[in-house]
Amino acid sequence: MSDLYLRLVNTPVGKTAAQSLGLPAPAPLKRLKRTDQPFIEGEVLIGAANGGKAIATLGSILGASAATLHHASESNRLADSSKAGNKARPLDLGSDINQRFSALVFDATGLKGPADLRALYDFFHPTIKKLGSNARVLVIGQNPANCRKAPQAAAQRALEGFVRSVGKEIGNKGSTANLLWIAPGAEKQLDSSVRFFLSPRSAYVSGQIVKIGKSDAAPATNPVAPLTGKVALVTGASRGIGAAIAETLARDGATVIGLDIPPAREELETVTGAINGRALACDITDGKAPKLIADFLEEHFGRIDLVIHNAGITRDKTLGNMPEHFWDMTIAVNLTAEELIDEELMHRELLKENGRIVCISSISGIAGNFGQTNYATAKCGVIGYVEAMARQVKNGITINAVAPGFIETRMTAAMPITIREAGRRMNSLSQGGQPVDVAETIAWYCSPASNGVNGNVVRVCGQSLIGK
Ligand code: NAD
Repeated sequence: MSDLYLRLVNTPVGKTAAQSLGLPAPAPLKRLKRTDQPFIEGEVLIGAANGGKAIATLGSILGASAATLHHASESNRLADSSKAGNKARPLDLGSDINQRFSALVFDATGLKGPADLRALYDFFHPTIKKLGSNARVLVIGQNPANCRKAPQAAAQRALEGFVRSVGKEIGNKGSTANLLWIAPGAEKQLDSSVRFFLSPRSAYVSGQIVKIGKSDAAPATNPVAPLTGKVALVTGASRGIGAAIAETLARDGATVIGLDIPPAREELETVTGAINGRALACDITDGKAPKLIADFLEEHFGRIDLVIHNAGITRDKTLGNMPEHFWDMTIAVNLTAEELIDEELMHRELLKENGRIVCISSISGIAGNFGQTNYATAKCGVIGYVEAMARQVKNGITINAVAPGFIETRMTAAMPITIREAGRRMNSLSQGGQPVDVAETIAWYCSPASNGVNGNVVRVCGQSLIGK
């Protein structure tokens, strides 16, 4: 659905009117145009608090990009920035800065206590106003759960408040801020996440914290089609977010089996036909569905690599007015079916080594929502399921969730206009997301290079004010 206000406010007259009335003026978000597009271009500044463990890795990831790389110099607290390697030229943060940065990347893994937090100010204070539009702030820290000393845990946890606040300050220019928390020794697993969070693929993801664990070395992949050779199942693929997921995974090289309810067969076949995929008409709440799906995969492919549990429904009513079938259906589609399908696929060993499971939660599941006790219960249950399964999966399999905020689909087009407008504007980017924003996040989880990304719930919500 099109956002008329976003279009109007970006005309010269609309801009002036919005300014004089004090209305939000969302910036149009730049999304990926071509898969061979560089993940970042322009001027990028990189820096590290002393003792940073990720700076050399960041320097080599960014050194291979199309960006002109600078590292912070002339500051005692940021002296380790020079370890970014010789592709990065020194930039004196104490002098006049003439660059417009497309990204500011900061290695905060060296912070050992609250006093060290001053390094954040030293790096970002002189540079934050030099960010261009649709720019990126990315901070790398250590997961506080791995910090044995309280002052270090405090400093690392503090990064969350910092990044979330920065996201709110830069969102009006279409820019985002995110935080990657790495486990000890997981620097090598940063690559796919740094690329995703600096690129236009993460246009609608802001204020997020991703935990990255240590894992085996990522296999080499074709950078333009990293999912080549993978077989993907996408439920609810006939329209909306599911159709975008199917198209995005196919774009990245996967063979996609799209699944939807039998009445949606025609729409489903249009989606899968356009991407050389296969269509499977099936109601996932049918008791026979897990076996039917597993039989289909076994017969045609002998396996499955990527399972995307996208199918979902809402049946809104306040709890006292809710008929029991509204409750039962919502829990069954959004939560129970995924668990039963996964159980069957794992039991029959169809989900292979380095497989990926991605579930769809919702910010309603995180924050709760009036009239959605059933939906929020199911979508919060999805988070519990992902967190528990992440501790159990083996053989390089990962499981993660996305929690979309307001995404422009038929589901949100059906909302009353006042609620729809509030949903669109109440986030740092002051606009709704597109189905492709959710799909790109799922493609990042699915990448073979994301093998250290397990048990996360990333919100694709433009840093919605709702929820934490
Ligand atoms: P949508 O209603 O446009 O699409 C959902 C698809 O799931 C439909 O094609 C539908 O036929 C299919 N489906 C429903 N029940 C099914 C069943 N029993 N078996 C098989 N397929 C079934 O919704 P959407 O907006 O594209 O949402 C996709 C997912 O994202 C859902 O899980 C939804 O809860 C979640 N989500 C969406 C938003 C948003 O703003 N649109 C926000 C948060 C979460």
